[in-house]
Amino acid sequence: MSTPQTKPVAKPWIMAIAPYVPGRSTTDDGRKVVKLSSNENPLGTSPRAKEAFVSAADRLERYPDASATELRDVLAEKHGLDPERIIYGNGSDEVLHLAAGAFAGPGDEVIYVRYGFAVYEIAARRVGATPVIAPDTDYATDVDAILACVTEKTKLIYIANPNNPTGTYSTRAEIARLHAGLRPDILLVLDHAYAEYIEGDAEDGGMALAESASNVLVTRTFSKMYGLAAERIGWGYGSAEIIDAMHRIRLPFSITIAGTAAAVAALGDGEFVESTRAHNAEWRRWFSQEIDKLGNAGLRAVPSQANFVLVLFEGKLTAEVAYKGLMDAGYIVRWLPGQGLPHGLRITIGTAEETQGVMTALRDLVEAAG
Ligand SMILES: *Cc1c(COP(=O)(O)O)cnc(C)c1O
Repeated sequence: MSTPQTKPVAKPWIMAIAPYVPGRSTTDDGRKVVKLSSNENPLGTSPRAKEAFVSAADRLERYPDASATELRDVLAEKHGLDPERIIYGNGSDEVLHLAAGAFAGPGDEVIYVRYGFAVYEIAARRVGATPVIAPDTDYATDVDAILACVTEKTKLIYIANPNNPTGTYSTRAEIARLHAGLRPDILLVLDHAYAEYIEGDAEDGGMALAESASNVLVTRTFSKMYGLAAERIGWGYGSAEIIDAMHRIRLPFSITIAGTAAAVAALGDGEFVESTRAHNAEWRRWFSQEIDKLGNAGLRAVPSQANFVLVLFEGKLTAEVAYKGLMDAGYIVRWLPGQGLPHGLRITIGTAEETQGVMTALRDLVEAAG
């Protein structure tokens, strides 16, 4: 006989989850400052998306279309996909959770890279699976290290490409090699949250793999390039069987009418996307170069293909001191000691003024540290 419990007891694998820590928007003393901690779009949202969002106020009494037909049709048209094989969710975070929910459970192993996206560990543990962490190569995804982690218990692999929080990118050849090295019963999830930011459209071939292979799921989001983080619209593409399994556990109404309308309108505003892409490429290049000029002081920018740069502090000025100093100067960035990066700050590319401002504040801190 087991000891009688006096209250409900959460599953041990749930209590093993370290709660997700979102990017902050205020300082310790509650001041509102420039937020460069959540990789949001500094140029805002497409005006067309805003308009569509506002119009949805006329339909507040209605349930959303549970099959998201319009959203799927527009996405399918834009990306040349089969609308029947598109899943959608409350942000791509939900889609990432659905993948683990449908394809992993107690006794199974889920692989992701060290310095990977924080949601993968939570998604794996939530279903009782065991997280397995593949070592990196100088902060970047190492395909051979991942393949070396595969065992007969492996059911799922999460890769963000570009990766968050490192900004690093795996080429089409590397992703193809990873896929070729996997058993067909292992689901490869390619998280393309930042795919739109890759320099020169050098996409990793993930969608083509998801189109033809039976074990690849690609996830995408409206939260970053499309500037709709508030509305929580994400989606995914995979084989009919993968999508069917995920639909069975999806909440029926996880995406809203207003969010869907805004997303559909945002897809039609290529100009906004192009201006965001150009802005980001210009200021990401500038910011990384300016950081590298501080190499003597031990600062280093990890090469990024996303809308943020991971800055490493390997000299006198520590990441912790810089984090606090930047907050005092009016900038909130992301310090990630909980993700094994006590020596790094992830800094979102802001507007021109914000990006120059945070750089000036960093230079001052380097100087003050001597
Ligand atoms: C921001 C981000 C997401 C997207 O999250 P949403 O739930 O779609 O807002 C997914 N994956 C990674 C790696 C991210 O950084």
